[in-house]
Amino acid sequence: MSRRNKYNRPAPRELPRDGAAYWGTRSATDRDGVEYLVRQMGATRATKFYICPGCNQNIPPGIAHVVAWEPGREDDRRHWHKPCWARFT
Ligand SMILES: [Zn+2]
Repeated sequence: MSRRNKYNRPAPRELPRDGAAYWGTRSATDRDGVEYLVRQMGATRATKFYICPGCNQNIPPGIAHVVAWEPGREDDRRHWHKPCWARFT
């Protein structure tokens, strides 16, 4: 199969394995220049406790937050408080 790149699109990325819609995923870069894919997790979709790597505090269910992972490492997604993510990037 050949891949057309005439519109200079970024390379196709794997879909997240949690079944979530791919739309809404964006890319961001942290202070070290590492690229991340980022998705907003709405309050109604947040159903678990997560530990925010920015502050090591819980993100309880029902709190809208940010999910970020390095491309190709969907299994290593991190869940961030929005303000913590904003400080990180
Ligand atoms: Zn946090």
